[in-house]
Amino acid sequence: MKYISTRGDKTPRGFSDILLEGLAPDGGLYLPTHYPMVPRATLAQWSKLSYADLAFEVLSLFIDDIPANDLYEIVHRTYTPAVFGTPEIAPLKTLQPGLYLEALSNGPTLAFKDMAMQLLGNLFEYELARRGETLNILGATSGDTGSAAEYAMRGKRGVNVFMLSPKGRMSAFQQAQMFSLQDANIHNIAIVGVFDDCQDIVKAVSNDLEFKRRHKIGTVNSINWARLLAQVVYYFAGYFQATSPDAPGRAGMESRRMGLDSRLMGLDGDKSQLDERVSFAVPSGNFGNICAGHVARMMGLPIKRLVLATNENRVLDEFFRTGIYRPRASAETFETSSPSMDISKASNFERFVFDLLGRDGDRTREMFKAQLEKQGFFQLSPAEFARISVYGFQSGHSTHADRLATIRRTWEANGLMIDTHTADGLKVAREHLEPSVPMIVLETALPAKFAETIVEALGREPDRPAALRGIEALPKRFKVMTADAAAVKSYITEHM
Ligand SMILES: *Cc1c(COP(=O)(O)O)cnc(C)c1O
Repeated sequence: MKYISTRGDKTPRGFSDILLEGLAPDGGLYLPTHYPMVPRATLAQWSKLSYADLAFEVLSLFIDDIPANDLYEIVHRTYTPAVFGTPEIAPLKTLQPGLYLEALSNGPTLAFKDMAMQLLGNLFEYELARRGETLNILGATSGDTGSAAEYAMRGKRGVNVFMLSPKGRMSAFQQAQMFSLQDANIHNIAIVGVFDDCQDIVKAVSNDLEFKRRHKIGTVNSINWARLLAQVVYYFAGYFQATSPDAPGRAGMESRRMGLDSRLMGLDGDKSQLDERVSFAVPSGNFGNICAGHVARMMGLPIKRLVLATNENRVLDEFFRTGIYRPRASAETFETSSPSMDISKASNFERFVFDLLGRDGDRTREMFKAQLEKQGFFQLSPAEFARISVYGFQSGHSTHADRLATIRRTWEANGLMIDTHTADGLKVAREHLEPSVPMIVLETALPAKFAETIVEALGREPDRPAALRGIEALPKRFKVMTADAAAVKSYITEHM
């Protein structure tokens, strides 16, 4: 499999070439030249696989420059019950017949980003060793991404992490999670300032191409194709669980009497076909998670709807309703109680638009470069807008009051405590439920990470996994610095 850019550069690159890179040289994002179709018979076989075996099958379709034995070993070392808490890795929980949560947040940092980042850590270590190279990862975080990156890269050979965070602005829990790491290759830098100051420093350092090259500076942000690819796997895993004849809660579903084989046979346009598809609802920010669902659907996984949920930051909901994409400035981005979705510019979105535009790189560049830069938005033509439904997308949004109500309702009806982001997804999912189409809501974090809102909703503290009790009391290891790119550069030079 080769990879091309969304902005027209068709120079073919292998998976391991783009693994350690960010943007393509023309400023676009990497995508495979095509999406491999998974035949029905193969789907039926995959439905019986363990998560790690399934991940190996999916990844193998996109990676042909890592020997199969090595890839197999990496994947099996990544997706273990010890790291992800259960033998299923991403088990479904039933809320009501046909409505499920897929648990993706039982990794080390209690958010779904671990699902991809843990794999990325092992792939990076493997590829760097193979090349005899080292990499210094520089990032800015306000919480989830930074901690997921650090827990993925800690102790890995050939990798250092320099993670900037705004001093005193993360929750005590998030701070403790990151700053308690004692690994020599993890460097927490608390910047006196806000998140944007951290981001500006990362940009300033990355724009110094000479420094960047000489010090082998890299990133792990959400535009990395390997992260997106790792996320494709749990759409398959969720589908197989929800359509398994003994899926919990299927008792109320029309389609329960049909086994997998009959389901997989009737998939060519008649009414029974629709009954056998599954929809996903995805709490979204940078469009990385739901973009993986789009890829799974393009591979032939029978997904009916991909329901995108935003919080009060509605840029993407607005796009799917109107065909107008208008990213907001940071000053116009609301701070909400689902902070990991407080995104004004969806960094992965260009991938979907490229597909929507029939993979026309010139038109994609025209929209994301010329139009966005000139007028601050772009608008699809009516014909392009009409194609959105072909790709199965629907959208909705949620507010702080909705989150509180959804957390309360789920606690009272199911005895399940969900986090604020998952609540956004569940609220919008309920608005798009269809009879006989199972709906899977992706659980993107555990409530322990967002205790304040849980207390507001339920009047009690969220439970915390045993391993994380009392982490606020652990010794912390971090460096405080002023918002000064030159000082951060010298710190990197001295500690790499
Ligand atoms: C990152 C994150 C999201 C948003 O995911 P995207 O891939 O950016 O759309 C949602 N919820 C949580 C808890 C996250 O950490």
